[in-house]
Amino acid sequence: MLFDSHAHIGEQTDSAFIATASTEEMESASAYRYKALGIIPEGNEKDLDKLEAAAKDGWHIGEIGLDKRFEDLPHQEMIFREALRIAVRYDRVAVIHAVRTYGRTLEILEEEGIGKFIIHGFTGSYETAREVIKLGGMISLSPRAEMAKSFDKLITLPFLIETDMKAGKEEMDILSSWNERLSGKIGIDAGERSWKMIREVL
Ligand SMILES: [Zn+2]
Repeated sequence: MLFDSHAHIGEQTDSAFIATASTEEMESASAYRYKALGIIPEGNEKDLDKLEAAAKDGWHIGEIGLDKRFEDLPHQEMIFREALRIAVRYDRVAVIHAVRTYGRTLEILEEEGIGKFIIHGFTGSYETAREVIKLGGMISLSPRAEMAKSFDKLITLPFLIETDMKAGKEEMDILSSWNERLSGKIGIDAGERSWKMIREVL
């Protein structure tokens, strides 16, 4: 079973965890089996009601998080915390988008007491990755992770695999070659382990 731990709306599939960046995608995402509703980075208070309704209905929450490239980090933090509280309340997975904010993001995750979360597209340090795992979270690696300085050490830890692409044939081709590269390096089937890890929480 090759499963993409983080993809976006494209073709219909049960082999990917579909995340959204805005609540406007809710209708098109609703057809997927594994899905999360999110708001990054400029969601507002009104979106939180939609997140809550989705969580009640079985959706996971994400992408949510903090992104230094956008303005108003205090407002981003407020929305992020409220979204995490929804995930905690309904026992859903939070899919975290963090750009140049790993330290602050981890503080908030810890303060909000969330146990089920994925830092998607992880390119941080080995130490940060260990913190994530200590908090009960998972790191998810896309092919971009190969460019991270920490890559060789990161893959000694358990990780999910993802493409962050639109679901479809190209996405599955990329996922499959990414899995082959990783599996060759670590000597076990990375994709199979990833699926075992994520299916426990989805
Ligand atoms: Zn994404």
